[in-house]
Amino acid sequence: MRGIRLGPSSAAGKAVSASVAGLRPWAIAGTTTLIAVNLDPMLLELLVCPNDHAALTVNETEQTLDCTGCGYRYPVRDDIPVMLLDEAIKPAGSS
Ligand SMILES: [Zn+2]
Repeated sequence: MRGIRLGPSSAAGKAVSASVAGLRPWAIAGTTTLIAVNLDPMLLELLVCPNDHAALTVNETEQTLDCTGCGYRYPVRDDIPVMLLDEAIKPAGSS
């Protein structure tokens, strides 16, 4: 077990998004199309909506993780769910 640094909660959130962005260079290599959502079911169980902490379901058609609570949809890029509110697709007419 290597040490995991846990900073202030706001900084930790930024660190996670930065690391996800950092994983993307290999994804630019040309394999960004026709990838089925292929997430480990155990990973899916661990993931919750960052907006309301509700469970998520896989939307194979849209390649997103759909929140069962607020309806936000999170894109999955190269099997990496992008669990960022900024990236979420909000349901139309929710305001
Ligand atoms: Zn939600």
